[in-house]
Amino acid sequence: MSTSSDSSNPDRTIFEKIIAREIPAEILHEDDDCIAFKDVSPQAPTHFLVVPKRVIVSVKESCDDDAAVMGHLLCVARRVAEQEGLKDGFRVVANSGPDGGQSVDHLHLHVLGGRKLTWPPG
Ligand code: AMP
Repeated sequence: MSTSSDSSNPDRTIFEKIIAREIPAEILHEDDDCIAFKDVSPQAPTHFLVVPKRVIVSVKESCDDDAAVMGHLLCVARRVAEQEGLKDGFRVVANSGPDGGQSVDHLHLHVLGGRKLTWPPG
């Protein structure tokens, strides 16, 4: 399920407010379809989020028509990771739904790196 962003909608996500520059964020990349910015609570030396401008709630709530933008998010994750110097690798995570630990209902890729990450996650 996806919706277009409407600034008169009081239920907008925090990421929509970052996209609209209503709240600050350290923006690393922006194009017509997505934005990447540093996570406010980093879980690794480098931790940024890649977020589509058109609201898709989650991977779980996405549909096949979202394939192009979801693929674009991964390409941007790679490009920004390179820009941020993550030459030894990184992890891309998309928490989805309550059991996946998602807290913001606006699809986002976490990109984490800058240290050796353990597996499995908690
Ligand atoms: P998730 O729990 O997977 O939905 O991830 C949401 C992420 O958004 C968390 O890692 C938060 O630290 C991050 N976050 C929440 N508010 C902000 C904000 N204002 N700026 C940057 N990151 C944020």
